[in-house]
Amino acid sequence: MGDILDYFLCDDCNSRDFKLVYNFCLRFHGVNFSDDLIYDKTVGERFQCTKCEKTFSREEIESGLSLLRKTRIKRD
Ligand SMILES: [Zn+2]
Repeated sequence: MGDILDYFLCDDCNSRDFKLVYNFCLRFHGVNFSDDLIYDKTVGERFQCTKCEKTFSREEIESGLSLLRKTRIKRD
């Protein structure tokens, strides 16, 4: 039996091609018993459909893939 390829597809346009989009953010928050703010740097990433530009989080892609796996492998 040959290999089967199941692709995660954009649920809007059925495209299977995505590109990575980053965003960069500083998150400020207070510290107990102080007026000072401290901050974290975070880098967010989204996967953008190359056809309709809808974006997906990594979690959405992962859960889409695990759905494909469950459909293909019933015993899991
Ligand atoms: Zn799309």
